[in-house]
Amino acid sequence: MTRFDCDLAILGSGFGGTLLAVIARKLGYSVALLERGRHPRFAIGESSTPLSNFKLARIADHFGLDWLRPFAKYGTWKATYPDITCGLKRGFGFFRHERGRPFGARDDNANALLVAASPDDSVSDTQWLRAEFDAYVVARAVEAGVPYLDECEIRDVRHDSRGWELNGTRPDGAVQARAKLLVDASGTGQVLADALGIGQTDPSALKVRSRALYSHFTGVARWQDLLEGEFGRSATTGHPFRCDDSTIHQIIDGGWMWIIRFDNGVTSAGFSLDPDVHPLRPDETAEDEWRRLLNTYPSLARQFASATPVRPFVRTGRLQRRLTQAAGPDWAMLPHTAGFLDAWLSPGIAQTLFAVSRLGYILAEERTERGRERRLLEYNRTVLRELAWVDEITGTCFACFDRFPVLATASMLYFVAAIYCEERERNGEAGPDDAFLLADHGAFRDLAWDIFRRAVRTPAEDAERFAEGVRDRIAPYNLGGLCDPARRNMYPFITGPAPQKA
Ligand SMILES: Cc1cc2nc3c(=O)[nH]c(=O)nc-3n(C[C@H](O)[C@H](O)[C@H](O)COP(=O)(O)OP(=O)(O)OC[C@H]3O[C@@H](n4cnc5c(N)ncnc54)[C@H](O)[C@@H]3O)c2cc1C
Repeated sequence: MTRFDCDLAILGSGFGGTLLAVIARKLGYSVALLERGRHPRFAIGESSTPLSNFKLARIADHFGLDWLRPFAKYGTWKATYPDITCGLKRGFGFFRHERGRPFGARDDNANALLVAASPDDSVSDTQWLRAEFDAYVVARAVEAGVPYLDECEIRDVRHDSRGWELNGTRPDGAVQARAKLLVDASGTGQVLADALGIGQTDPSALKVRSRALYSHFTGVARWQDLLEGEFGRSATTGHPFRCDDSTIHQIIDGGWMWIIRFDNGVTSAGFSLDPDVHPLRPDETAEDEWRRLLNTYPSLARQFASATPVRPFVRTGRLQRRLTQAAGPDWAMLPHTAGFLDAWLSPGIAQTLFAVSRLGYILAEERTERGRERRLLEYNRTVLRELAWVDEITGTCFACFDRFPVLATASMLYFVAAIYCEERERNGEAGPDDAFLLADHGAFRDLAWDIFRRAVRTPAEDAERFAEGVRDRIAPYNLGGLCDPARRNMYPFITGPAPQKA
């Protein structure tokens, strides 16, 4: 039998669990990292954002992980780790498609929105090829002295006055780990929730409703080439960056498709579909459904005309889940274990890094059970609140898919919150306990809630008036010059003045 007696056991070696293991080891804790699968392995969740990268850099600096810092920007990643595949992400792109009709580029961009997140390629965000990135982080953890057991299936989790006892198996025999603290970073694994009998929030209370269908492909045409081929160079002259160097959101009726390009010629693409609008047809294979959806939207069909999937399609059931508890006195879950909403606007990596950073600070600053207990309680509240907040933002955007100009305005609340938090990071004002996207900022949340309530009721013909009202109301937070009709939905990167203390 393989036995561990340690301070901290972590279930799941995605980048989240593994980074936490590295931090804990660096702080002098004894750690065991237990993984059910084996690296390198495919993982979804590939698109980073400025907030993810601020957090990544902060984790690297604060915990002395010099090897991690280059991953925080495209230029340093490419220069330092040329063998670990990434992609260039200059911002977000959104395009609204009409069923049965080719996409029509318009002078007023009434069906397109581009928001830049960085001023140039070298300091831009990245698309992570997770198989390679996660495997590298695990290798660094092992190098740092973290005992790592893969192909480890934990079958029994117990808790007593001495802490946690985990029993499981590996191909070479039984495994037992005893630990004072337990972190569940297993994502959909849900080991701890099952063991503690933690319930799910009633799914009908979650605003977002989506299921996913996705794969990796080669041969995906560049969206910019298609636009320029069809409408001439003028179709993209207003773009603040090459639109394929972004996470493209191709919006359809009752859903959207993400397109994320890596530098090795592989593209990640997937549909996120409202199951009420796109119910699963039991007799339709994933490939057939993919083809049918593409064929419903001629410009998407063209973009994927020469595309070949390089791995089997994944087709999920409804993605939304949110547990009622994310931490207790001597345990915690990473956000992706505590819940998930949708890939819309790429919140997952950032949320995970916010949580890893928070737990790192708790481990560093609270060496007593009492102190840790109090901080873990706060962690619990923040993680659940952030998930609820992302549900609110994403659910509102989904409800506006049928009115693109209203959607463009509603989505500004995300960008305003993101840029506000980024400026706090940039100016050294952000603390380790700051919540993701101002989730803990009551006044901003109240304002956004009211705007969201109006957004879902605003008809397309009132979109301009709605945008005007929103612009006035978000002014105190709007550091990036958003919601400006003169921009015609094309927002270059702007750094604003330092935000006032929240
Ligand atoms: C369809 C989809 C698209 C997404 N797109 C984006 C995006 O574009 N941008 C973004 O920021 N986020 C995105 N996300 C979210 C993102 O995937 C997560 O936030 C991120 O993967 C969390 O990382 P993690 O390390 O916490 O967990 P994970 O990446 O989920 O890793 C969990 C690990 O635990 C292991 N494991 C599972 N069960 C067990 C067990 N019982 N015991 C031990 N180990 C176990 C798994 O093998 C895996 O290695 C997306 C998610 C989905 C579902």
